[in-house]
Amino acid sequence: MKSFNTIESVREALKKARGQSIGLVPTMGYLHEGHTSLLKRATEENKTVVLSIFVNPIQFGPNEDFSNYPRSLERDLAIAEEYGADIVFMPSMEVMYPKPTLTYVKVNEVTDKLCGASRPGHFDGVATVVTKLFNIIQPDRAYFGLKDAQQVAVIQQMVFDLNQPVTIVPCPTVREEDGLAKSSRNVYLTKEEREQAVILSQSLQSAKGWIAEGCIEAVSLRARIIDKISSCPFAKIDYVEILSYPSLTKITKLDQPAIIALAVKFGNTRLIDNLLWDVQGGSEYVS
Ligand code: AMP
Repeated sequence: MKSFNTIESVREALKKARGQSIGLVPTMGYLHEGHTSLLKRATEENKTVVLSIFVNPIQFGPNEDFSNYPRSLERDLAIAEEYGADIVFMPSMEVMYPKPTLTYVKVNEVTDKLCGASRPGHFDGVATVVTKLFNIIQPDRAYFGLKDAQQVAVIQQMVFDLNQPVTIVPCPTVREEDGLAKSSRNVYLTKEEREQAVILSQSLQSAKGWIAEGCIEAVSLRARIIDKISSCPFAKIDYVEILSYPSLTKITKLDQPAIIALAVKFGNTRLIDNLLWDVQGGSEYVS
């Protein structure tokens, strides 16, 4: 495995790999089993696998955790090697955003709701950095986790609209034993918050049961989920939404492929989780 900090050097290293498949796994580092599941899949499907590590400042709001975001480069490099990355691209801020940077990528509509509503500008930052990574690495496939299902929807729309020559591979959410979705931000949780954070996945599990019992009206399903999360003293709901997926439009009934999406704060830590629902199969799905 080799690591590179500059665009020129990673492009030079990739020259030999062109013509055979290249898989890209974009991350912000502080790797966990969610990230390694993407790496595993990428190594199964591509000759060369590139992992990028870049904490992208432009996807963080002014009062968000950019400067505190957990970082552990040495550990990340060891994990990347263990899970079969061939190349790690870890550019500095100056390499990714030399001044002046005047061009940004903005995806409309799918970015207006859920995390896009709570974090204005977040998805412009994501779409911009992912486009830059696609242009630098020129992967055949890029791997993204469905834990961030809105991000997957935004990137798929962007790739479609801009004819970016890459296949997006959505990958299932990896969870802790008790169901909490793995996240680099879980380290922020106190012991008590961590214990209660399981309410996100538990309420999605309950939702599955309620749907099976016939509760398919979005309003009543949402109310039940809110009730359940509100039983946790530390949980502060940011949003609980039931929308069509991947178009993220309002629906009144679970009679089409849908997402039940949650964002809940524990202290200063904001956690997200979701359930993707496929009405045809009558069950959860991952595309
Ligand atoms: P991040 O480093 O948080 O930007 O995440 C990098 C990639 O890993 C994104 O595509 C995430 O959706 C994915 N990812 C993060 N957590 C998980 C998880 N628990 N399961 C699957 N994928 C994940």
